Amino acid sequence: MATTLTWLGHAAFRMDTETGTRVYVDPFLNGNPKCPDAEREPERCDLVIVTHGHGDHVGDAVAISKRFECPVVAQVELRDWLSTNEGLPEDSRQSPNKGGTVSFAGVRVTLTDANHSSSTWHNGAILYTGESTGVVLRQEGGPTVYFAGDTNVFGDMALIKRIYAPDVAVLPIGDHYTMGPDEAAVAAELVGASRVVPSHYGTFPLLTGTPDALRPLLSAGVELLAPAPGETLTL
Ligand SMILES: [Zn+2]
Repeated sequence: MATTLTWLGHAAFRMDTETGTRVYVDPFLNGNPKCPDAEREPERCDLVIVTHGHGDHVGDAVAISKRFECPVVAQVELRDWLSTNEGLPEDSRQSPNKGGTVSFAGVRVTLTDANHSSSTWHNGAILYTGESTGVVLRQEGGPTVYFAGDTNVFGDMALIKRIYAPDVAVLPIGDHYTMGPDEAAVAAELVGASRVVPSHYGTFPLLTGTPDALRPLLSAGVELLAPAPGETLTL
């Protein structure tokens, strides 16, 4: 099998690994105007990863985890919040922090830094849910994929290149809440992946960045893969 990546609109992705492990990253499916109807109810899932506490990233994570009895990996404060308030079973193996790596179903999950916020609404007030993260997914015999999460560009993306050498970088490009194409082009250079997949754009009118704006800014040799929502890429 080959590793595949399916964009589900916004920052939601499904990745199927070489060995058939199915991973959802930031599974904002119901309520996501760009998620194809046929994708709102997953058929199966082995692992869920949530980069931070905003509702457009936590999405259906808890419901998917309960239905398929699969782990949800998230930064420790957010993961603890999902246990204490949303009914996920507590499991410290699923709540690392930045720099930490956990393994589930043949996938090594490493949380990285991201420059963003992380919060949820609770009883009419904003509750902070730790720090926002990116994530690197590694597997035996398959591509290494870096999901930047929500972030601006930052110089330490060079460390992600140095340490993990991702083959594919999923970068937000929508602007307003994250970096737009100008910063994403520099992020792509720092991360050094030969293939870039744009995310977090086109969902709402505020998110104005487009793949067409990013494409001419990328270095020669970097391939921009911009699937339509519901489209599957072979990595
Ligand atoms: Zn966010």
